[in-house]
Amino acid sequence: MKHKIQILPENLCNKIAAGEVVERPASVVKELLENSLDAGATEIRVEVERGGKKLIRVVDDGEGMGRDDAFLCLERHATSKIRCDDDLFRLQTLGFRGEALPSIAAVSRFNLRSRAQESLEGWEIYAEGGTVKRAGAVGSPCGTTIEVRDLFFNTPARRKFLRRDETELGHISDVITKLALAHPEVQFRFAHNGRTLVDVYRQAALPERVAALLGRSLLRDLVPVAVEGPGGLHLQGLISQPTANRSSSGSVYTFINGRYIRDRVVQHALMEGYRSLLEKGRYPVTVLFLAVDPGLVDVNVHPTKHEVRFRDQRLVHDFIASAVRETLRPAGWLAAPREDSLEGDLQPVLPSTPPSAVPPQRAVRSADSLAAGHREGVQEALLSYARTGPGKERVAGVGAAQRQTGPFTVPDAESDERGRGFFSSLEIIGQYRRSYILCQDGEDLLLVDQHAAHERIGFERLRSQFRQGRVERQTLLFPAVLEFDFREAALLKESLAEMAQLGFDLEPFGGKAFALKAIPQLLNDREAERLVRDVAGEIATVGKSGLVEEALDGIFAVMACHGVVRANQSLSPPEISALMRSLDEVDFKAHCPHGRPVMKRLPLSGVERMFKRT
Ligand code: ADP
Ligand code: MG
Repeated sequence: MKHKIQILPENLCNKIAAGEVVERPASVVKELLENSLDAGATEIRVEVERGGKKLIRVVDDGEGMGRDDAFLCLERHATSKIRCDDDLFRLQTLGFRGEALPSIAAVSRFNLRSRAQESLEGWEIYAEGGTVKRAGAVGSPCGTTIEVRDLFFNTPARRKFLRRDETELGHISDVITKLALAHPEVQFRFAHNGRTLVDVYRQAALPERVAALLGRSLLRDLVPVAVEGPGGLHLQGLISQPTANRSSSGSVYTFINGRYIRDRVVQHALMEGYRSLLEKGRYPVTVLFLAVDPGLVDVNVHPTKHEVRFRDQRLVHDFIASAVRETLRPAGWLAAPREDSLEGDLQPVLPSTPPSAVPPQRAVRSADSLAAGHREGVQEALLSYARTGPGKERVAGVGAAQRQTGPFTVPDAESDERGRGFFSSLEIIGQYRRSYILCQDGEDLLLVDQHAAHERIGFERLRSQFRQGRVERQTLLFPAVLEFDFREAALLKESLAEMAQLGFDLEPFGGKAFALKAIPQLLNDREAERLVRDVAGEIATVGKSGLVEEALDGIFAVMACHGVVRANQSLSPPEISALMRSLDEVDFKAHCPHGRPVMKRLPLSGVERMFKRT
């Protein structure tokens, strides 16, 4: 009987492998760049046309390949990077499977030209759909040039899945950004349709690289991080002030031991560091390099998924969270005026990957939404007016900040000095709509949201009292008897100890009733009842065992929101001064505990432009 099982032809195998390795032009760019980096290149040029669909060319000055290697590299499982089992566990290279080149060649018109240092001549190989068509010796500089044309020309079904040029370009830019951030020792140049988009020099300081890749205007919103932690942990890089936030996590770049990694633990820790400083659904911009003892992290969990496994997750998590937090704590940048903000020039240099679910920004709009869009535009302009950045000198001080004295040192301690007394020193103009305090700072007009300010103050004080184990109470002259529904009552009975810790004195009063005898000093007794309900509800939702930092912050935010000066309440001049003084005393004063801003700045230049006086 004729047998039915066949060994697949090599070429078909490569096409199948290509399905995994080569998803789109950006994956080709990634594989080629990684090869160039593995080859020790110091200069890499990437040229693409039509979003990489027509042409991808990567030119490097790495070690190159001799004749035999040039042919071998197109074979499946041909790699120079591992030889035996053990090598798998001490990988230093970005690639090792020997699959990329044959896979790419299988679905494109592929040309390779390479010369090794020691060879006198180079070799050129041209293949179409994985079949070598031409090969021969050529004159060539040292290094390797690979051209990939007409990607998926022989797999039309896959070609159909490619997106518009700009979308593919966005993905490619993303790949280049990540690799270029991770490899300061290499010069990267990148051009699309003949136009240079990136040109970053070797050894440039991180801020320079970030400026070149993510946009120069971003720099003034970045704060340097350089913190040494336990167990050889080290975190270094730049993170954005809370005001410079984004609607997606696409600008969160994290690297572990020099590799771009998008890790759940790291991501969570970062957001934890920003907790209560960002509104829900907003993300910071970060370029952070974490150094971990290689023995304590497994980076090869998955070659394409950018995941890692830490030996001690908790340690890493808490280290990152507190490093970020401590870096953000000095609010000195509050005082720094911001010069040019009308442009709102926050566009990154490179087009980034558009989130697939979100329609393109300049979609056609109806008249109504146009008006709304305009309003948004105005708000955005105001926001950027207010974004108070550190001068460039702070960012340039990364080098200085790296000189560490001890663990968890705040990188830029003197900025705290600048911030102290900032609010108290403002010239008060008055109150606007019984909700905002107008002040003058030098030439700038400042607006302070009195409710947000009070919330932050109440929140920070409650938190610090709680930490010291004594939330100050006020005994109510007339204890209030509060009646709950039975589910609430049951929960409350369980949580009396926690309520007491939070400053509420509650006693069961028979049935579903409780007598409220004291509440936290900082809070407003007129709201006591609703407050107790809300706090009890909050404890119920997180569960008692969950009375951890994050849950507590939620509770303090609820408490602060109740107990404080509301919007729409007139304040006397002494009350305003007291508010300003209190603001100076707390941390993270630029935002309310829900992440809304406390203060907005309108520079004189902005006002003048508004009145066409410039
Ligand atoms: P891998 O990177 O997993 O080894 P690839 O298919 O990407 O597999 O590459 C196969 C081999 O070709 C590499 O191991 C390397 O020896 C060689 N090679 C590929 N690209 C270059 C390059 N730009 N410079 C020098 N050698 C290269
Ligand atoms: Mg490779």
